[in-house]
Amino acid sequence: MTENKQIIAAEPLDQETIDKIKDGLLVRRQQIKEELKKITTADNKNDEPVKAKFPNYGNESDDNALEISDYTTNLATEKILQSALQDIESSLKRIEAKTYGICKYCGRPIGKQRMLARPSASACVECKTKLQKAL
Ligand SMILES: [Zn+2]
Repeated sequence: MTENKQIIAAEPLDQETIDKIKDGLLVRRQQIKEELKKITTADNKNDEPVKAKFPNYGNESDDNALEISDYTTNLATEKILQSALQDIESSLKRIEAKTYGICKYCGRPIGKQRMLARPSASACVECKTKLQKAL
């Protein structure tokens, strides 16, 4: 580690980039919703919490084992998709609130490159690193 670390000024997010990211988020949100539909039971008409599908392949013990293993996979996938969906929703909310791309800890711009790489980022690299060290 060198004391003389180079500080690269974070390039602020311009509206064009935000619009581009927003389009990407909307597409991704639709994809995730489609994926969730495949593995969950609820049709989610009323925004009810969705439940992972419990498959029914038959009553042989091999079938049951496969049902449980697929159910476990569905559950795990559902969790990942739900949390990705939440990230997207909160990113979209931040875009609406014009706080997108601003670090929620220090209030400084997160930087265009990082937002493009991680559109759901809500903290700058510096704060993120500090937080991870504190854990
Ligand atoms: Zn920060």
